[in-house]
Amino acid sequence: MAKQPMLKFVSVERDMPEKRAPNLRRNDFNEIYAEYADAKAKEQSSRCSQCGVPYCQSHCPLHNNIPDWLRLTAEGRLEEAYEISQATNTFPEICGRICPQDRLCEGNCVIEQSGHGTVTIGAVEKYITDTAWEQGWVKPIAPKHERTESVGIIGAGPGGLAAADVLRRAGVQVTVYDRYDRAGGLLTYGIPSFKLEKDVVMRRNDQLSAGGVEMVLNCNVGEDLSFDAIRGKHDAVVIATGVYKTRDLDAEGADASGIVRAIDYLTANNRVSFGDTVEEFDSGELNAKGKRVVVIGGGDTAMDCVRTAIRQGATSVKCLYRRDRANMPGSQREVKNAEEEGVEFVWLAAPVGFEGDPVSGVKVQKMRLGAPDASGRQSPEVIEGADYVEGADLVIKALGFEPEALPTLWNTPELEVTRWGTVKAEFTTGKTALDGVFAVGDIVRGASLVVWAIRDGRDSAAAILDYLNSANQVAAE
Ligand SMILES: Cc1cc2nc3c(=O)[nH]c(=O)nc-3n(C[C@H](O)[C@H](O)[C@H](O)COP(=O)(O)OP(=O)(O)OC[C@H]3O[C@@H](n4cnc5c(N)ncnc54)[C@H](O)[C@@H]3O)c2cc1C
Ligand code: SF4
Repeated sequence: MAKQPMLKFVSVERDMPEKRAPNLRRNDFNEIYAEYADAKAKEQSSRCSQCGVPYCQSHCPLHNNIPDWLRLTAEGRLEEAYEISQATNTFPEICGRICPQDRLCEGNCVIEQSGHGTVTIGAVEKYITDTAWEQGWVKPIAPKHERTESVGIIGAGPGGLAAADVLRRAGVQVTVYDRYDRAGGLLTYGIPSFKLEKDVVMRRNDQLSAGGVEMVLNCNVGEDLSFDAIRGKHDAVVIATGVYKTRDLDAEGADASGIVRAIDYLTANNRVSFGDTVEEFDSGELNAKGKRVVVIGGGDTAMDCVRTAIRQGATSVKCLYRRDRANMPGSQREVKNAEEEGVEFVWLAAPVGFEGDPVSGVKVQKMRLGAPDASGRQSPEVIEGADYVEGADLVIKALGFEPEALPTLWNTPELEVTRWGTVKAEFTTGKTALDGVFAVGDIVRGASLVVWAIRDGRDSAAAILDYLNSANQVAAE
């Protein structure tokens, strides 16, 4: 096969025809852009070889029927492509935007494996569903018949909402409780809007509400309402609370002002993008404008922080990570994006303390990689005498998340958790140690991915329908 050029979708920021022809009127631009996107989707879809061994599909956590919707897109049969794509995915336009496709579907595309550049599956998935919304093919939730049973879902992130969607379509009465003022979980307040536009998330929230899902927001379960009260009110309960306890740094000077948590920094930025007034942003506490920013960590949250800081107008942005590039947990694609935007990565660099209050610098210890540990991963070792101070006005800690202690917070010691504090739940059903209580998403897996939370939510909803049906059968006997 002749080597084909790597064809990518345009970046709206980088490549819009509007930018190249500033006099273009908005309508003309929309038309040209739509035609361009349509041509790109067809071009990419027609690159799928229909290989018959769809590794892309088996490496998609939802086992999306990718080859079929690519073929239909190539043939211009977009509505049918959408029907197939939405049959297995509750939020295809969201996954199309933010799945780490290089580690999932696209990384396993046969064309990619043979060195010709992957079919841009995520971009096609996004295009199909965005078109479906524009064309009115996304149907409102309208159950064929109503059921009397109700399910309470704690947490309105992708896991909880995917379960809500499946249950509501089956006619179950669904109430979702969340401590935030908007639904969406990390889709709304974690992932920045340059990766996932907020109107895309709100459109799904509105669809669920319009379909009869009751959203009880600003309700912190354990404080405003007890877990037992929710259990008593519903026939089944889903725990979908995610993981929010931030791993911290035990280093000298770590309490200084100007050293902040990634989740606070990103939430403030997302609130500002909704038009909310955020005091800590206005005061500069959670705003990188005009500052030397140092982000500590090597995961995807760190990448979101560095890229947000660039957009806020930081004078410099550096990312410190104690291992090297090859051993970082975050997506290589994100690192490349960040580098292109001007972020400097300082590999093999561990923070050991901070100077000043407010912070004026990070004390950095240079490291080298030693022998592999039991897991096969090389451990970082200190290089004696190789330390220096990296100047900083804002330090963002992005060291990962852990589960909150739910059994204690909710006064339910019977809720079994693992030694990491995640809720113990049966694989594929989400059943926990408590009768009628299921758990999905990050609170079961630890910090994971949106697509896995959706998968869990859908699987668990199917198990809950079985549970409700068998309870009805027992009652009828
Ligand atoms: C900064 C950041 C960027 C990320 N980027 C990506 C990405 O690009 N791609 C990707 O696939 N994944 C990404 N992830 C991971 C992804 O967001 C999560 O895996 C996913 O959101 C987990 O879904 P969830 O439904 O389990 O939990 P969450 O999305 O965390 O939702 C949990 C919800 O429960 C609510 N809640 C918690 N406790 C209570 C309580 N006691 N009472 C009431 N409500 C409660 C919370 O307010 C929240 O709304 C990112 C994560 C972070 C932090
Ligand atoms: S859901 Fe994610 S992994 Fe699956 S096809 Fe879409 S982008 Fe790929």
